[in-house]
This record gives sequence, C-alpha cells and structure tokens, in this order.
Amino acid sequence: MAAERQQGRQAAAAPDSLAIELRGISKSFGPVQANKDISIQVRRGSIHGIIGENGAGKSTLMSILYGFYRADAGEIYIGGRLTPIPDSQSAIRAGIGMVFQHFKLVQNFTVLENVILGAEEGRLLRPSLAKARKALADLAREYELEVDPDARIEDLSVGHQQRVEILKALYRQADILILDEPTGVLTPAEADHLFRILKGLREQGKTIILITHKLREIMEITDTVSVMRRGQMTATVQTAETSPEELAELMVGRKVLLRVDKAPAIPGRTVLKVENLRVRDENGVERLKGIDLTVRAGEILGIAGVAGNGQSELLEVLGGIARGAGSVQLNGVELDLSGKHSDGQSRRLQGIAHVPEDRQHLGMIMDFTAWENVAFGYHNEPEYQKNALLMDNEALREDTRRKMERFDVRPPDCTLAAKNFSGGNQQKLIVAREIERNPDLLLIGQPTRGVDIGAIEFIHKQILALRDAGKAVLLVSVELDEIMSLSDRIAVMFDGRIMGFRDPATTDERDLGLLMAGVDDVKGAA
Ligand code: ADP
Ligand code: MG
Repeated sequence: MAAERQQGRQAAAAPDSLAIELRGISKSFGPVQANKDISIQVRRGSIHGIIGENGAGKSTLMSILYGFYRADAGEIYIGGRLTPIPDSQSAIRAGIGMVFQHFKLVQNFTVLENVILGAEEGRLLRPSLAKARKALADLAREYELEVDPDARIEDLSVGHQQRVEILKALYRQADILILDEPTGVLTPAEADHLFRILKGLREQGKTIILITHKLREIMEITDTVSVMRRGQMTATVQTAETSPEELAELMVGRKVLLRVDKAPAIPGRTVLKVENLRVRDENGVERLKGIDLTVRAGEILGIAGVAGNGQSELLEVLGGIARGAGSVQLNGVELDLSGKHSDGQSRRLQGIAHVPEDRQHLGMIMDFTAWENVAFGYHNEPEYQKNALLMDNEALREDTRRKMERFDVRPPDCTLAAKNFSGGNQQKLIVAREIERNPDLLLIGQPTRGVDIGAIEFIHKQILALRDAGKAVLLVSVELDEIMSLSDRIAVMFDGRIMGFRDPATTDERDLGLLMAGVDDVKGAA
C-alpha cells in the first residue's frame, strides 16, 4: 500500500532536476539491517524531509550519503551522475554539507578557525585568514547567519554553534545541506530563525534534507517528505497532500492518537512545596538560584525550558541524588537536602518516585537483567523478602513479568539484560517500575526522549492515569508539545530561575519561547 502511494504521488522527475538520487541502498551493522534497499529522489532546490521513529535508519542513510559509512549495496547519484562517496572528503567535493545531531566543532577554537578548519582540502585552497574572514562575513549577511567570527565556540549558545556548522558547510560551497534533527536543541525562536535560513537557502537554489521526528516541522517547512520505518522507506509524499495523522500512521504502521485526551485536573492538597531552593555544582557555580514552586495532588506541573537551565539539577535534588539548600516539603514534612542518600532510596520510602532524565546512567544498570533493574532500589521491601538476608528472586521476576505485560515492554523477557532493549522499551521499564510504586509524587524527566510515537502515546496515558488517581506529578521536558499537552500548569526555567508560570489553556509557544529565552515575564507570575 505504501509503495503504491509512493508511485502514485511522486511523479518521475527528469534526472537533471534531481540533486540526489539513491538507488537500492542497504546497510547492516552485524545483525541489524539499518537500511534495506532504499531508493529516494530529492529535487534540486527543495526542502526534503525525512521522518521516522527512533532507530528507523535515518541517520544511517544520511551518514552513507555523507561518506561516514559505506553502504553494503546501492548507488548514489549527485546531479544525475553516478558518484561514489567512499569518505566525507568525497561528499564535500560533491557539494554535500552535513550538520550533525551532535556538533563537531572544536570548542576552544574561534568561529573563524572552525570554519576554515579542514576546508583547505576543499575547493578554496589555503585561503588567507583575511580572505576567509571576508567570505564568512558575506555568507553571514546573505543568509542571516550573523555570528562573531572571533568568538570562541565554547562561549556561544547552541543556536549560534549550529549557525557555525551551517556556515562551515556553505564556506565549503555546499549545494546540498543535510541537517540531522537540528531543532532538538533550539528554543522555538531559534528554530523559527533556522527555518527562515533554510527557506533563504532554498531560494538560492540549495537543496536541503531535513531529518526530524517532529511532524509539525515537516508540515511547516518541507516540500516533500519521505517516511522511514524499520530500515525501509515506506512512502514519499508531497507535504501539501498529506497530514500529520497520515504521516504518524506511516511512521508507526498503525493509527496513532496525536492529541492527548485529558479531563480537567482536580487539584487537591499541596503535596510538594519548594521554597528558595538553591544548588551549586562541584565547581561552586550556582545552578539553581532560588526556586519556589508547589505541586498539588491530582495535578501535573510541567517545567519547560531549553536543556541546561537547571532542570536536571532540580530533579536531582528533589530526587535526593544531589545536595541543595533551601526548603522542600513533601506532605508537610521537611526533606533532607544533604544528598547523603545518593541512591534516592530514602526519597522512595517517603513516597517520591523518580524517572530520571538520564536513564542510561541513573535509571538503569545496563548489564543487569530487566527484573534486577525493576527491583533496583526496592529489594529491601518486605513483600520481596523471605527473610532478612535472602531476597525472593522468583517473586521479583514474577512481579517484573506482570509489569512488563501491563506496560507492553518488548520483548517480554525479564531475564534479558537492560542493554538489549530498545530505548523506548527501557523507558517503559523504568516508567513501569516508578509508576507502579503508586507514589505521592512522581518526578519525571524527559519521559519520551528517544521513545517512538507509539510508546509516547502509552507513557503519556500512564502519567495522566497517575494524576487522575490523585497523585502529584512534576514533569520536566524540553519538548514543548509534551509540556503543552500534559501539563495542568507550566513553569518556565531559565538560568536556574523560574521565569514565570503559565496556564496551558491561555499560553502558546511564542509566549513560552520568550520566557525560555530569558525575556523577563511581562505577564507577571502566577
Ligand atoms: P535513526 O537516525 O532513524 O534514529 P539510526 O540510523 O541511527 O536511526 O539507526 C538505525 C539502526 O541501526 C538502529 O537499530 C541502530 O541501533 C543501528 N545502528 C546505527 N548506527 C550503528 C552503529 N554504528 N553500530 C551498530 N548499530 C548501529
Ligand atoms: Mg538519528
């Protein structure tokens, strides 16, 4: 069906109007076939989106096009000509530039140094620094990419670092620009700016491939979109002829509810009360500069913000992992902020469950089995103990099996090591472990990072069910969509402070985006 749609909708283009054509690309990593016989045509001067769930094979395909990986089979045509791309230098020579998910800039070099680094082997041979400076200034002006050429990378915001990556590609005269999940690290305003830049590049005849898992971005900026699922290209459609619902279904292989269905909150008593909470990191730098907030029973307080503005520290100190100063009360009882019980154990006994942001390090022990991970932290509970010394492992395994079934963790094998589950299934295991504790307060950070759309729908439902059971939830997420759809109230963090509180019914992305960028609250605090 998907194949028919592809043929039906994508008219065969004349070869010279194509910037890129991939034919029959396949690539395996050991037993994992990341790309299966993929063919795709990208029109010159278009913005072509590639969308797919985590692990669908998007980055692999683009890494092949950029010469980072070699395909096991298949051919690459650039501008209608068969062009082998054995390495990145060949890709650059073919006019391809790539902005990676994780930037590859040298942190203690300046912008100018980074831009010319490695370019001597490109088309501009050994340019003088002055000449390079002029070229950079021209590019910056032409494409709204202003950035101080003498600033050190480490002093730039993430948005500006991204501009440097784009400048670097343009400086090497790229005609084709590949961006891998570029907006994950940006504020909404920065993302808007990036999209303006991309549209400007399209006007100049550049071809852009945009990888994203965000349906909204695809709908907003692309001309054409290709959908990947489990290593295959399942459809290519014109953006104007599709809808987010159709794309979600093509990505997941079944109908997905994109909007969270939720009843109004009925907040009860105050469960968490935080006053003047402060945290310093190991270098003495203040990361939380006096946080005040409350979360009531039956309510989800969502913390919005660009990553790195103190959200992680807030979760860690509330979860008992880090040390803080100030006052935190749970059900009216003052909590110990000394960080002494750094396993978070004492917090759990007090009724706080914690799904940490960094599940790879804080949430799980990757070499341990699923059941050991689910029991982790709770193995001292009476129900699991036959006597003081011996844990009843079979009871723990049985308990894990039940949780895995309820949370649809795949594969449903509790004796498998955590590292053998996909990111989404690891997250489901942790969410199952924490929610099934029936805590008074759930702390949950980036609940759906790296999780596929189907599992996101499921995890969101579980968080709401906990709220509807009268529990308090503190949700931290860098995904504004997630904050907007789950939260009953929203707090925006910037630079270790809360910039303002908002009601999701009366705010929007732009309003939140200003607070996220540190613009002082004009509406006043709630
Ligand atoms: P996406 O970018 O769509 O999230 P990727 O292309 O990164 O997906 O990954 C596709 C599949 O290939 C995943 O199962 C991933 O685990 C696997 N994979 C990607 N890169 C490697 C690698 N270098 N070694 C082993 N497996 C890999
Ligand atoms: Mg990727």
